[in-house]
Amino acid sequence: MVGNRYLGIDVGSTASKVVIIDENAEIVGKGLSASGAGTPGPKLALEAALAEAGVALEDISSSCSTGYGRNLLEWTDYQMSELSCHAKGAAKLFPGVRTVIDIGGQDAKVLSVGDDGVLENFVMNDKCAAGTGRFLDVMAGVFGCDVSDLERYDAESTEIAEISSTCTVFAESEVISKLAGGVPIANIVAGIHASVASRTAGLARRLGVKPKVAMTGGVALNSGLRKRLEEKVGFPISTSELSQFNGALGAALFAKDKSSRA
Ligand code: ADP
Repeated sequence: MVGNRYLGIDVGSTASKVVIIDENAEIVGKGLSASGAGTPGPKLALEAALAEAGVALEDISSSCSTGYGRNLLEWTDYQMSELSCHAKGAAKLFPGVRTVIDIGGQDAKVLSVGDDGVLENFVMNDKCAAGTGRFLDVMAGVFGCDVSDLERYDAESTEIAEISSTCTVFAESEVISKLAGGVPIANIVAGIHASVASRTAGLARRLGVKPKVAMTGGVALNSGLRKRLEEKVGFPISTSELSQFNGALGAALFAKDKSSRA
């Protein structure tokens, strides 16, 4: 018989993430599916996390959902906003964090976090694909590679092929014409990363960046983009292999807190 287990599920626009923690708030299971709200993704991520933790859903003491598609899940005990969950998760993953930059599949947000992971303020871009994971996904599609290959290309770049269009559709045409003009993919990828970094840094400046700074969301896995963002914001940026699970971790921590208060 295992002790209490708490589950957080983050159903994003692009990916579904599940984290299961124990009574000491340590992660005992996690699951990820690269499909988001309205797809089988949440179920697949849930099954993977339960299998890794070695428990059934009935064994879960309390659960909390977050993310774009959280309203589609009826079986969870609680729902929390993505912003609160990202603040809470980041305080656990990156102790002492004050600024969280979260770039997901369809939006980008910057959060100010106070003591104990309480959300103090935020700014968000959810109106435009440029500056989000979607922009990078579209560009990877043009190169015929996986989005996870972009960091390798950036590492091979010798200069930045500047992308002047801020609109994803126009930027895609610009990238195609640079490719046709013989510009190396690596330099174009450096330009794409520089463009996303500029937009994100602009968003962050509206809020004010205080160290310690951490990056969460799937795009945090791209170290090429993170390095360009560090140059623009002027602070080192912490990431973790668990960055994409940050919202789900925050939800699991809320499930634990709420059930111990109940
Ligand atoms: P959401 O919560 O909005 O669904 P996520 O935070 O899960 O989004 O991030 C999804 C995005 O992360 C994808 O659109 C993709 O651009 C990016 N991504 C996912 N995996 C990787 C990877 N291995 N390397 C780089 N980027 C990645």
